Amino acid sequence: MGKQQDFVLRALEERDVRFVRLWFTDVLGYLKSVAVAPAELESAFAEGIGFDGSAIEGFARVTEADMLALPDPSTFQILPWRTDGPSTGRMFCDIVMPDGSPSYADPRYVLKRTLSNAAEKGFTFYTHPEIEFYLFKDNPRDGSEPTPVDSSGYFDHTAQSMGADFRREAITMLEAMGISVEYSHHEGGPGQNEIDLRYADALSTADNIMTFRTVIREVALSQGIWASFMPKPFTEHPGSGMHTHLSLFEGDANAFYEPGAEYQLSKTGRSFIGGVLRHAGEITAVTNQWVNSYKRLIGGGEAPAHVAWGHNNRSALVRVPMYKPLKGQSTRIEVRSLDAACNPYLAFAVILAAGMKGIEEGYELPREAEDDVWALTERERKSLGIDPLPENLDEAIGMAEDSELLAETLGEHVFDFFLRNKRAEWAAYREQVTAYERSRMLPVI
Ligand code: GLU
Ligand code: MG
Ligand code: MG
Repeated sequence: MGKQQDFVLRALEERDVRFVRLWFTDVLGYLKSVAVAPAELESAFAEGIGFDGSAIEGFARVTEADMLALPDPSTFQILPWRTDGPSTGRMFCDIVMPDGSPSYADPRYVLKRTLSNAAEKGFTFYTHPEIEFYLFKDNPRDGSEPTPVDSSGYFDHTAQSMGADFRREAITMLEAMGISVEYSHHEGGPGQNEIDLRYADALSTADNIMTFRTVIREVALSQGIWASFMPKPFTEHPGSGMHTHLSLFEGDANAFYEPGAEYQLSKTGRSFIGGVLRHAGEITAVTNQWVNSYKRLIGGGEAPAHVAWGHNNRSALVRVPMYKPLKGQSTRIEVRSLDAACNPYLAFAVILAAGMKGIEEGYELPREAEDDVWALTERERKSLGIDPLPENLDEAIGMAEDSELLAETLGEHVFDFFLRNKRAEWAAYREQVTAYERSRMLPVI
């Protein structure tokens, strides 16, 4: 038995843990959980816990349904919101097939495989997400507009504000689960908040994002409110994004850092951005996976709508932040398209794969966009070589379907399932006649 497994088994006794939740994520990014009794854990570590993969979104064909969840002891934590009675622990799992090989359908494995391809070239991948979400007083089930908990705006500080209390409790819980928070503030929309997680290797941040979504929703429920990561809940207020800062390290050295270079950005960093830009259209179906995601990427609200980069340009898809220009370790890039309703494992995998492609092929970085890209005319953008991001899920699927990079990164099974599922989502959406259409047409036609 490994040291970490030993540690978990001891913690179970010392902390009087009666349930252990085994967590994993389906292809669309929903968290799945099975509770096991502590007595089962030793065998769970050795052999895994069996489940029916065909009942999980995107996991298996019915004929090869048996899969096993193998807990990763390094992710063990006690759930801090279960304080009454005995404790509940949780671990993330890797999914394996009955023969012990990793499951081709496990998003965590898709990311691990992509990380190990980068590791073969000597790189480790670090990410730092800025996660935005709305807090509502209610969650009307009929699809009407929810009521935000406050009417504050960006960085507002109001006495006894709901948001500040919420953030304090949420951050305390996140810290109790070993997730470090760097910043938090009220965002631009009413009831909109942002919490930024500290830099960590991409696998840990993807796990942390899954935990984060659960913690935020639990804390909201405990306060009698509703939290949502929906990318664009309101027509007239900004959407919720998950801008992600990223960098590659080679050993202890930041591979994006080159003292004296423009923006201290190395050739490796430039080519990485080149890769993200060149493949941006193909990977957007994964970074922005819902019909609603594209209502956020419309140009404005500080969300990108075009494929461009800049150093201080909030309309750009990729930004090279200038906050601490002299500290080499913090040289990084910010990708601004992602929303927090993505599957973080798959989203990080496709961004890394695009960036690595840029490095391998030595892509040149196009000219920096100095203007507000939203404000340019179509013609001006064309002459600057600035392409639009896909305008809706249908376009995004079309670009994804033709992408070798995506097929390779996701693997054939996830690629096929994902596109099939997304095509069905688009088809269902297309059928809907909306209140918008009725309010426009009935009075006049
Ligand atoms: N809410 C904006 C978005 O959807 C981001 C605002 C910001 O710059 O933090 O991308
Ligand atoms: Mg923000
Ligand atoms: Mg940002």
